[in-house]
Amino acid sequence: MTLLLIVAAMLLSLYAQWKVSSNYRRYSEVPASSGFTGAAIAQRILDLNGIHDVTVHASPGHLVDHYDPSNRRLVLSEENYYGQSVAALGIAAHECGHAIQHAVAYAPLQWRMAAVGITTMAGNIIPVLAIGGMFLAPKVVLPFLAAAFGIVMLFQLVTLPVEFDATARAKKILASTGAVASGQEFNAMSKVLDAAALTYVAAFLSALASFLHYVLPLIMGGRSDEE
Ligand SMILES: [Zn+2]
Repeated sequence: MTLLLIVAAMLLSLYAQWKVSSNYRRYSEVPASSGFTGAAIAQRILDLNGIHDVTVHASPGHLVDHYDPSNRRLVLSEENYYGQSVAALGIAAHECGHAIQHAVAYAPLQWRMAAVGITTMAGNIIPVLAIGGMFLAPKVVLPFLAAAFGIVMLFQLVTLPVEFDATARAKKILASTGAVASGQEFNAMSKVLDAAALTYVAAFLSALASFLHYVLPLIMGGRSDEE
């Protein structure tokens, strides 16, 4: 049953990734009539929000865009930094959404930042535990595996409001600044950001399925012991 859920989450994840790359490929060819580049709109959004301690950088690589809160760096892929497409503006504005969340101390972003260390540890320990499980009794390894997957699942859960909020902010700002024209341009930009949001939903569902896969035997095993 849980294995079925894991497979379903994997399929959704593959679908979401395909949707991101096909929408991005399509709408990075659609120029925004405003003429802004990703870098220019990012700088403008930061200025409009009174954020002066975040720097905007171009990075080689495909879709490597992110906001780095510890160094207050907004990193855009070269094609989005220099690009004038609706996809480039959407992604640049989305990353600005994270910078704004950081500036206004948006709670889910702070929880997510606080959880990065322990989640990285949990992610590193999972393969070790899985290999250990081949030599040790499942009873010994299972609680630790369940706990590690639980941490990853909670991290993916907190990521959801962070990502949805950044996208909501991006859409609002792009509409209000006129950087992306309403109608066709706005809809195309939305498709790129909504597909990206779906990848985070898939990542959460896949973490939830793995967590359930390891925690349910514990709960059921515990029950049969009591009986
Ligand atoms: Zn994001």
